[in-house]
Amino acid sequence: MAEIRCYVDSCEHWGNQMCQAQAIEVRSEDEQKTPKRSDHTMCATFKPPGT
Ligand code: SF4
Repeated sequence: MAEIRCYVDSCEHWGNQMCQAQAIEVRSEDEQKTPKRSDHTMCATFKPPGT
């Protein structure tokens, strides 16, 4: 898998400035709109710690 740099340190999959998940899923922030900027997308694999 590609290395994924991530700064979301509140995610269960985060470690050492990188995503440690085997795979991630990225979706449009709003399914009714076509993303035009990176902040119109979101990581659906995000998981709060301890859940
Ligand atoms: S799952 Fe998403 S939010 Fe969590 S560390 Fe990986 S890329 Fe970042």
